[in-house]
Amino acid sequence: MAINLEDPKKFRPLRDQAHQVAMNMLRPISRKYDLAEHEYPKELDMLAAMIDGLSESGAGEGAGAAGVRRDDKGEPAGNKNGSNLASVMSIAEMCWGDVGLLLSMPRQGLGNSAIASVANEEQLKRFDGTWAAMAITEPATGSDSANISTTAVLDGDEYVLNGEKIYVTSGDRADSVVVWATLDKSLGRAAIKSFVVQKGTPGMRVERLEHKLGIKASDTAVIIFDDCRVPKENLLGSPEIDVKQGFAGAMATFDNTRPLVASMAVGCARAALDLTRDLLEQAGVEIDYDKPAYNQSAAAAKFLQMESDWEGARLLMMQAAWMADNRQPNSLEASMAKAKAGRVGSDVTLSCVELCGTLGYSEAELLEKWGRDSKILDIFEGTQQIQQLIVARRILGLSSAELK
Ligand SMILES: Cc1cc2nc3c(=O)[nH]c(=O)nc-3n(C[C@H](O)[C@H](O)[C@H](O)COP(=O)(O)OP(=O)(O)OC[C@H]3O[C@@H](n4cnc5c(N)ncnc54)[C@H](O)[C@@H]3O)c2cc1C
Repeated sequence: MAINLEDPKKFRPLRDQAHQVAMNMLRPISRKYDLAEHEYPKELDMLAAMIDGLSESGAGEGAGAAGVRRDDKGEPAGNKNGSNLASVMSIAEMCWGDVGLLLSMPRQGLGNSAIASVANEEQLKRFDGTWAAMAITEPATGSDSANISTTAVLDGDEYVLNGEKIYVTSGDRADSVVVWATLDKSLGRAAIKSFVVQKGTPGMRVERLEHKLGIKASDTAVIIFDDCRVPKENLLGSPEIDVKQGFAGAMATFDNTRPLVASMAVGCARAALDLTRDLLEQAGVEIDYDKPAYNQSAAAAKFLQMESDWEGARLLMMQAAWMADNRQPNSLEASMAKAKAGRVGSDVTLSCVELCGTLGYSEAELLEKWGRDSKILDIFEGTQQIQQLIVARRILGLSSAELK
């Protein structure tokens, strides 16, 4: 069977449209919101309305993170290019425009992917149109997410949430937050469930916003839950604590969100490569795709090496998304894509800063910004080291207890 390495034809219009939006709507305000940290990018409201319109007309399949869902019914798995693939392709294009602004896009939060991944049909309808942030990380828990200590205790028809969540992307602006909490810490990871908490629910408050290295257009919040009561129907998926199934339910979210984060890195790195190629050409550096790299200038050879690394990341991203569309287990591939793209994103953007010298470091261009913005993509939704650990466990057939 031949492998086709090109973008699927049916998604090319979507990809091109996302590229136009990135170029004409995100790039022009990119520096403005990098400098005006915590200021709401009001221009995005219009863009979000446009995306809503496209989704309603059916043309917006996969326009953002909200498009991600594994449908267990319907046609059997085969060779389908679906909404996961469409999402990674369009998100990469949007991040060619600006990662921080993409992360601030109304109704396209990582919490929306969590809802799409684990909600039942009734919840999917009820939470349709919400803008959901995702709150897992706590002051004492980051990579070791099975250790979270925010609690959820059933009291009548409501769960009572108590705890502190930190570094919640869009935690201030979103309409709701998907909060990970434990029903019973003594039962370990199987007792961790996610809850949709609407903004304005008594007992939930945004304590402060963080100042950051990059993605400054995106708000990052500390949120406190103090006897915060949510309807019991807001627990996503099943309330049963299935010790055999362990963490699988919650972790399924990551299989869908990691390819998305990989696509953000792919898009940001592509932006840096495109601008660097222009700047190198203006400086008289010729990049020849038909000549061996060792016969070209050091700058051209470095550029070619970066592009091939980038291509590897892009293909892993496409593979992980395609497998999700075809209902194939993709935890290994999702982590491989995230690890490769996260690392390539940082390496490529910073190498572009280096190759372009003073222009690379100057605020006259966006290269230095992309160098800062890309770093987070190698950290959130599981760091580089954690992805490598997951890949190693999967390949060696070892459990999380056996390989820590
Ligand atoms: C801008 C920003 C936005 C974020 N957005 C969100 C969000 O929306 N929702 C959310 O829940 N969280 C979010 N996070 C948090 C992010 O997911 C965590 O920072 C990340 O998971 C790492 O956790 P930690 O910071 O506690 O680091 P730690 O887990 O303390 O790790 C520190 C270092 O040790 C390494 N390490 C840890 N364990 C191992 C191991 N077993 N083997 C090898 N190395 C290891 C890590 O890779 C890392 O390099 C965000 C963070 C930032 C900076």
